[in-house]
Amino acid sequence: MGAQFGDEGKGKITDFLAAGARYIVRTGGGPNAGHSIHLAEGQVVLHQLACGVLRHGVVGMSGPGMVIEPTKLETEMQELEQRGLLRGQVVLSDRAHVLLPVHRLEDAWEDELRAKKNPNAGLGTTRQGIGPAYADRSGRFGIRLGDLARPARLREALELLYATKAHVPNLPPIDQLATELAEVGGRLAPLIRQTEPILWDAIARHETILLEGAQSALLDVDFGTYPFVTSSHPTSAGALVGSGIPPTEVDEVIGITKAYTTRVGAGPFPTEDTGERGEFLRRVGGERGATTGRPRRCGWLDLVLLRYAARLNGFTGFAVSKVDILGGLEEIPVCTQYLMPDGSTIRDVIPSQADDLAQAQPVYETLPGWPEFHQRLKDRVRREGASALPSTLRRYLDRIVEETGVPVQYVGYGADREETVTIPPPSGHVHRASLTPWTG
Ligand code: GDP
Repeated sequence: MGAQFGDEGKGKITDFLAAGARYIVRTGGGPNAGHSIHLAEGQVVLHQLACGVLRHGVVGMSGPGMVIEPTKLETEMQELEQRGLLRGQVVLSDRAHVLLPVHRLEDAWEDELRAKKNPNAGLGTTRQGIGPAYADRSGRFGIRLGDLARPARLREALELLYATKAHVPNLPPIDQLATELAEVGGRLAPLIRQTEPILWDAIARHETILLEGAQSALLDVDFGTYPFVTSSHPTSAGALVGSGIPPTEVDEVIGITKAYTTRVGAGPFPTEDTGERGEFLRRVGGERGATTGRPRRCGWLDLVLLRYAARLNGFTGFAVSKVDILGGLEEIPVCTQYLMPDGSTIRDVIPSQADDLAQAQPVYETLPGWPEFHQRLKDRVRREGASALPSTLRRYLDRIVEETGVPVQYVGYGADREETVTIPPPSGHVHRASLTPWTG
């Protein structure tokens, strides 16, 4: 699960963990996600497919919690196939909702409405229609992948849906849309299945299932920085709803965080650095959206947000990505608490109002930096494991553990699949998620 505002490197870590799994399930979001994975054959950005599709013998499932643009999904599969990278099996949930052109048009219409009422109220969404599609799901006007193979049901559902969209300009004619959807539905039909029993049977056979979160804790529609959020639940609870797996079957919850923080779009971001050093993070970290190409806002590690995300998700471990980007900095600020305008301090529960969070002043502790991750250091870490990580980096990771109560289990020191190191738990100790801090 993403532990910050998204783009933490979920694709890379899921792909790393995928080596031991039989099923990988994307549990929410749609083409607004862009999970980047660097393979020997080049970079892959997955939008609607789970990263399991890149591995032989693995099932990559696009789960019931997703909103899927079927034509884009087809193109994504074709492109992977042309590159010889579609190696796993693709399975699509019949319960996943269909993202339609009307949703994209409605997204733009809503954004304009917000801007008209208040020029500062734009959410900075990807304008792909994700919000309206989830709204139609909740409103029970939605169309699901399973409907595409039922022409009469599809037609009836489209007519009802269109009746609710009189305010949206330039809708494509229903006839044309119904025909296109039936065609793409026909081509995808062999992949569309009822997915939850497949996963239940896999659990009964003791096979490993990995749920691949999209978006992140601070973008959760309820627990994020509302209204600057996505329209689904990118938390561990949401991943269960988005897959149909019961909570009692979960063994581990891995929170993925960068060694610093970024955010795309509008909304409060206490540790944002709008100066030269933020620009440094953007440049060196290549911080541009994988889907939209938008520059990401950049800032420092925020332990208040991480503590909050850890409690919300019940993280049993962290994967910390992009430590190589900070390599070579002499000192690194880390936010340990917020100072609020009334003089109070906040350590672990962010305010539920975005306006209040926007007032939070980060209080920083300065930690010593570590050397640059040149090739020699990377080779040593690959050979010798976590013991070869620079001691100042180990100290940085220890501070995350001390402040959140959650052990760091994986560290990413480069974009390549191989550039991830596992930190073994002391004497085989496995952390169980608990609100009681971890003491090692
Ligand atoms: P996601 O949506 O959470 O998968 O994240 P994105 O793909 O949007 O952004 C993460 C970017 O960082 C991608 O380009 C990854 O290849 C890259 N990345 C992930 N982990 C690391 C790392 O440890 N070091 C470096 N340098 N890049 C990384």
